[in-house]
Amino acid sequence: MATATQPKARTPKPPQVKDQPLFIGGKWLDSVSGKTFDTINPATGEVICQVAEGDKADVDLAVKAARKAFEEGPWPKMSAAERGRLLHKLADLIESHREELAALESLDNGKPYRDAYNADLALTIKCYRYYAGWADKNHGKTIPVEGEYFCYTRHEPVGVVGQIIPWNFPLLMQAWKWGPALATGNTVVLKPAEQTPLTALRVAALAQDAGFPDGVINVIPGYGPTAGAAISGHMDIDKVAFTGEGSTGQIIMEAAARSNLKRVSLELGGKSPNVVFADCDLDAAVEGAYFGLFFNQGQCCCAGSRLFVEEKIHDEFVQRVLQKAKSQKVGDPFDPETTQGPQVSQEQFDRIMGYIESGKKEGAQLLTGGNRVGSKGYFIEPTVFAGVRDEMKIAREEIFGPVMNILKFKDIDEVIQRGNRTFYGLAAAVWTRDIRKAHRIANGLRAGTVWINCYDVFDAAAPFGGFKMSGIGRELGEYALQLYTEVKTVYVNLN
Ligand code: ADP
Repeated sequence: MATATQPKARTPKPPQVKDQPLFIGGKWLDSVSGKTFDTINPATGEVICQVAEGDKADVDLAVKAARKAFEEGPWPKMSAAERGRLLHKLADLIESHREELAALESLDNGKPYRDAYNADLALTIKCYRYYAGWADKNHGKTIPVEGEYFCYTRHEPVGVVGQIIPWNFPLLMQAWKWGPALATGNTVVLKPAEQTPLTALRVAALAQDAGFPDGVINVIPGYGPTAGAAISGHMDIDKVAFTGEGSTGQIIMEAAARSNLKRVSLELGGKSPNVVFADCDLDAAVEGAYFGLFFNQGQCCCAGSRLFVEEKIHDEFVQRVLQKAKSQKVGDPFDPETTQGPQVSQEQFDRIMGYIESGKKEGAQLLTGGNRVGSKGYFIEPTVFAGVRDEMKIAREEIFGPVMNILKFKDIDEVIQRGNRTFYGLAAAVWTRDIRKAHRIANGLRAGTVWINCYDVFDAAAPFGGFKMSGIGRELGEYALQLYTEVKTVYVNLN
């Protein structure tokens, strides 16, 4: 994500965190079952604290509170401009707690503190501000219909919205979900990922301080098959928004269909082609390709994980990328020198190591990395494979880790065809000085976002989402408002 213009922060110590409750109807509660779960520091494998474990009974309570807030009380009567003011206030509070939130995110997720501060927090704050501005601008139309009728549309909130988010960008995914949902007047029940529940709860507390009425936002930490499934199958939730793995998206969509046909928006995985032509600015392409894969420990749905390099520059490109991979500092996220932190969990660590083994077995050339770093925490060396072929598992499946796969290509038609040979369609990128090639790639690759001579540029105003099995709907920008509104048509008889 674009970080260049952000200020550098000093690096604090990892914070101490007390045990965490659920947030339902403006109250901080234990779970109905009384159960809790550990949230783990991925840099050490140690428990940070206990978090109340929500399940169906807690989701039911949260939905009741959200329904009540949607139908009664101050929220539905509040002007759109006032909703915008609350979102601005939340953005201000997040900004004034930027260091604290960045430290909490870094502790729970493992990402370097500086990245959390410079990238995640910057984008999160901007996202809330952007949607604060939309609150009073999402108006309908007047329609010139036949006959003596006055016809107009209203853009109304969908209602109670369930939101299920992943662990790779916890604060930012919450902002992508809450910004448009709250700006358009919905009430929300959010389930953060079980690996990273801490910042969602802290932001809920800040939202309460900002003055959001009770029940407008509810946060239920818990596991997917229990708390998550209770959301997607709930009969009184009007819409579910999900970011995560494709197979989970399929389960959620099925549950939505089988329950009350709630609206579904999905932002899923990817295997994004990143195409480097021989006529590129090589320094920029090496930097961009490295960043596009290794940023956030490789845990990005839009990671440029199929790196197609034109044959003519292949060997030089590989040498430069290797130099970069070998010069990284993998370690403590709170050390200002660290460029790569741990993977989020033991499960992810094992999965990535499994992919590395599979790459070796299928005959890809392991040029660097492939091993664990240290003896505690979930650290993996920056890993680079060359000689990767399209049919290998590492070239087809999402690895979600610091593993770069380099594939060779000869010409543009070939690379467009190969780039599209995937069920995914989230993002793509191209590096070239030739504007015609750049646009042929941009038009030819079936992906929701194409970056030309850049990677991972995000802006709250620009939509993001996937073609094909990478998702349904577009988050961010004006487009996301459609995910959270119903259009109502009103006819008035003038005769
Ligand atoms: P990841 O591999 O990124 O953990 P998941 O799709 O498993 O991807 O997780 C993303 C979010 O989906 C998490 O909040 C997780 O708890 C939730 N989740 C997982 N399984 C289910 C499910 N069966 N129903 C609803 N939510 C789920």
